[in-house]
Amino acid sequence: MAQAPVQLYARERQIALEAVTLAAQLCQRVRQTIRPEAIEKRDRSPVTIADFGSQAVICKLLSDAFPDDAIVAEEDATALSQPDMAAYLAQVTEHVQAVLPDATPDAVSQWIGQGNGQVGQRYWTLDPIDGTKGFLRGEQYAVALALVEAGQVKVGVLACPAFDSQQTKSQAEGSQGKGSLFVAVRGQGVTVLPLATTGEPVGTASPVQVVRAGDEANFRFVESVESGHGDHSQQEAVAQAIGITTDSIRMDSQAKYAAVASGQAVLYLRLPSPKTPDYREKIWDHAAGVIVVEEAGGKVTDMHGKPLDFTLDYQLIANQGVVVSNGACHQAVIAALQAAQT
Ligand code: AMP
Ligand code: MG
Repeated sequence: MAQAPVQLYARERQIALEAVTLAAQLCQRVRQTIRPEAIEKRDRSPVTIADFGSQAVICKLLSDAFPDDAIVAEEDATALSQPDMAAYLAQVTEHVQAVLPDATPDAVSQWIGQGNGQVGQRYWTLDPIDGTKGFLRGEQYAVALALVEAGQVKVGVLACPAFDSQQTKSQAEGSQGKGSLFVAVRGQGVTVLPLATTGEPVGTASPVQVVRAGDEANFRFVESVESGHGDHSQQEAVAQAIGITTDSIRMDSQAKYAAVASGQAVLYLRLPSPKTPDYREKIWDHAAGVIVVEEAGGKVTDMHGKPLDFTLDYQLIANQGVVVSNGACHQAVIAALQAAQT
């Protein structure tokens, strides 16, 4: 009798899904029960108790299940272990306890510290809250987790607690509706589950599909809210060059990948800001989004048309800018970018 085929990465998918779901609940609880305050990191970007709590929960579940796997995550526990941060760590711990009741302050800082692994043959990469600025503004943010093996993203789980995969453009901007949880495995497609405002999955999974050729209504593009995270004027010029005539949709976080994957936009452009031309993208800002879009039928490269190289460092040092599309318009975008450079 023929045996049922073993689904590759089934356990990784399951643990990642559980971990991200708990983290999304923690983040939504923080956002709904307190007005989250940000503290400034050394690079002056904001971080909140939810960023640390989310990283603690996900690193704990991953390292219990896969003790040999490295985790390359955005946040660092060093600052939290300083004596003057004890009250802050206590707050983080209280929120972690809502999803992992046995958590203690020491355990929480140890779990966060497990996220300081290195890029290698097989590793996880995590952005515990991508788009912290959107999280603070009450707009879009994401919890983004991916498994990279032999340079390829194999599994991606992307929770977008304020992104409704069924919504229209006017609802997309700045709204806080239902959420979505995207789950992708290389070669096995991507599905989306609705998330309640508590961050809990509700309802059933449905397939995810990029904009098909001929769907004029969704022929538009997404870009960051933050002008310092891209080049909004060049992004607009490139979009016009391929025939996009409507204004962009501006969103924080990898919700932009979700918008392309679920067919709300044909294109996400992230070109280097003229203020930071040497900025290199962080792997955790892209890995989960990349597999979600690719498994939905889309394409992701850098601005020169090169695939993103996840083998080198925690930054995409071999790449510049990012172009995410439904596939059909990709070559036209790269050609427009090349024309603009010559
Ligand atoms: P977004 O929500 O798309 O604006 O992206 C948020 C991410 O932008 C953060 O997680 C940062 O890692 C990243 N970021 C910070 N500075 C820059 C920069 N100068 N250019 C591009 N991305 C940046
Ligand atoms: Mg981020």
